[in-house]
Amino acid sequence: MRIGADYYPEHWEKERWKTDAEMMVKANIKVIRIGEFAWSLYEPEEGKYEFDWMDEALDFFGKYGIKVVMCTPSATPPKWMIDKYPDILQNDIHGNPKLFGTRKHYCFNSETYREKTKKLNTLIAKRYAKHPAIEAWQVDNELGWSNTTRCYCKSCKNRFRNWLKEKYG
Ligand SMILES: [Zn+2]
Repeated sequence: MRIGADYYPEHWEKERWKTDAEMMVKANIKVIRIGEFAWSLYEPEEGKYEFDWMDEALDFFGKYGIKVVMCTPSATPPKWMIDKYPDILQNDIHGNPKLFGTRKHYCFNSETYREKTKKLNTLIAKRYAKHPAIEAWQVDNELGWSNTTRCYCKSCKNRFRNWLKEKYG
């Protein structure tokens, strides 16, 4: 049986990676899942993308024979995005927006969120598709976590009402 673990290279000083990689090898950990909450590192400002840190992490852990499940970072849109496009926030049944500071705080139906997610995920996929350390992809993290699949924002309410109108007249 192969054993894997979540790992967040962005949470540690790079000097620590060596210790962690050696401990993983010793513990027979063969796979790490990375990048799932790293949108703010990939895109620290709108349209400004940075991949060097992930390039370095993949190359580093790959040298230890550790394979990677590469995650899309779509569960955590960055703070600048929430500030600039507050309409992407998910609303609860009372119309209160979920605030920044957790994950899955976005409306799944937000056109802005979808556009931004598609753009970044496409860049990640193209950049890393053939990287030898990657053996699998995770396209989302904990879909439905903490009642996050239902949104009551204006856009969702209007679309639902339009769907009802079309279906039932
Ligand atoms: Zn919504």
